[in-house]
Amino acid sequence: MPRIAVYPGSFDPITNGHMDIVRRARRLFDKVILTVAVNRSKNSTFTLKERVAMAKACVRGLSGVEVDTFEGLLVDYLKKRGSRVIIRGVRAVSDMEYEFQMASMNRAISPEVESVFLMPDERYTYLSSSIIKEVARMGARVGDYLPAPAVEAVRKRFSRRTRP
Ligand code: ADP
Repeated sequence: MPRIAVYPGSFDPITNGHMDIVRRARRLFDKVILTVAVNRSKNSTFTLKERVAMAKACVRGLSGVEVDTFEGLLVDYLKKRGSRVIIRGVRAVSDMEYEFQMASMNRAISPEVESVFLMPDERYTYLSSSIIKEVARMGARVGDYLPAPAVEAVRKRFSRRTRP
């Protein structure tokens, strides 16, 4: 049986921090499914389709990594995909507050599911999709923080606003 892990998130957009977690997870599991949350799309900057397209382009070179979407309860999605492992990235202790809550709830609903927390390279500790959007909106270059396909999408989205 291949060991399958699911890495859920908004990926709005996917960053080098997310990519770092995907690579680390792939070292531990035979297959990693990066799954983009459907239900948060209302508040997201990029549509579900855009977030998925970006993620797919970014993981293209990685074997054993798949991009998918999910809606509703994550643990139901895991069951459907034959996985018992949720991957989450933890940048700082402050992330743990929310992550602990989520993991506890998921365990309560589905005791056989384990949440696995991975620490990114320290270069990505202060990196988040929201900070990227904030600075991109003001015209900052984001090439050092995002994989190439995401840089292009972010540039396209914010370039109109950054020009006088
Ligand atoms: P969510 O809305 O579910 O938090 P995100 O796309 O913001 O979705 O994050 C998905 C997962 O990736 C979360 O576990 C988050 O902590 C983690 N993550 C986000 N940015 C980074 C980063 N720079 N380094 C490591 N993990 C990260």
